[in-house]
Amino acid sequence: MITAKARAVDGSDQPFRTAEIERRDLDVHDVLIEIKYAGICHSDIHTAHGDWGEVDFPLVPGHEIAGIVTDVGAEVTKYKVGDRVGVGCMVDSCGECENCRKGEEQYCLKGNVPTYAGVDKYGEPTQGGYSTHIVVTEDFVLRIPDNIGLDVAAPLLCAGITTFSPLNHWNAGPGKKVAIVGMGGLGHMAVQIAHAMGAEVSVLSRTLNKEEDGLQFGAEGYYATTDPETFTKLAGSFDLIINTVSAQIDMNAYLSLLTLDGTLVNVGAPPEPLSVHAFSLIPQRRSFAGSLIGGIRETQEMLDFCAEHNAVPKIEVISADEIDEAYERVLASDVKYRFVIDTSTM
Ligand code: NAP
Ligand code: ZN
Repeated sequence: MITAKARAVDGSDQPFRTAEIERRDLDVHDVLIEIKYAGICHSDIHTAHGDWGEVDFPLVPGHEIAGIVTDVGAEVTKYKVGDRVGVGCMVDSCGECENCRKGEEQYCLKGNVPTYAGVDKYGEPTQGGYSTHIVVTEDFVLRIPDNIGLDVAAPLLCAGITTFSPLNHWNAGPGKKVAIVGMGGLGHMAVQIAHAMGAEVSVLSRTLNKEEDGLQFGAEGYYATTDPETFTKLAGSFDLIINTVSAQIDMNAYLSLLTLDGTLVNVGAPPEPLSVHAFSLIPQRRSFAGSLIGGIRETQEMLDFCAEHNAVPKIEVISADEIDEAYERVLASDVKYRFVIDTSTM
């Protein structure tokens, strides 16, 4: 067993504490990663706070992981000691079902193994990236391009792929008008990626407070959703809308902004239902869709694309003792635009 230092939480209303966790000895296809940076995703907060249902504690969240390979199992072929690598939201899947064979492991018909709050094939609970080391089977390890820092690479492993995948799937590109709802961790990556893909991007944020940043990320339009005129002015404007909001909002208002055959893809995951009127969809043959992270092959594509187009997150690096404070600040939307834990402070 390999002992790692970590930050764990013991209950939905508890603060983080220092912890030591065991990582399994390397199986033949396993890679041992010394984690350098771990991003804080709003999903970590939903999970730790029990928003999506009960979880087993103690819990070590973190699925935006970047680090260095320090050991490999006997039959590992993809990585060697010293490689710069990342791990995202899943660490395994059945590998045999139709979806896994298509490279859509996130939709594994037997359920993918989440990086934390899951159970691995050895029957052990998985623990995430708020720690110094992790052991992952090589097929779920990503290569981080040389020209991006490990600190900014970390958030790409969730915020990057979760926005790249639907933008890619619904063909964001030249001639397409794309709106991003909510400019937090996911949203600010969505703006940069959609812009890099060649789409005309607008941001729909609650206020205009972050407008200057939005335009720098590549948006051409920036609108306040607290201004009712926004919805009149932009009615029927967009081919594709990506909703990244972590709270319940009125989907019907956003669906009215879609043009003929437009699609609103929901990636935000509030615990409350998002209700849709039939007549928000029928008149312009609109679609309302969802999307979950992305497959491993697509995640590597995303990393290479973001490195090539310099689409990297704007981050605030924190120490391991600042996680509780960071959670409070994310909940208050006081984050520009991703907190990343420097694991050397564990
Ligand atoms: P985040 O950094 O907190 O950003 C969320 C943004 O939503 C905020 O910046 C804010 O944007 C907006 N917002 C927050 N509360 C709002 C409210 N009450 N009304 C209207 N807008 C509000 O969170 P994140 O890490 O980007 O994650 C966003 C959501 O995506 C979470 O629910 C997370 O669980 C989910 N997620 C899903 C997947 C997936 O695979 N589908 C993957 C990762 C995360 P403005 O300040 O611009 O208004
Ligand atoms: Zn995430």
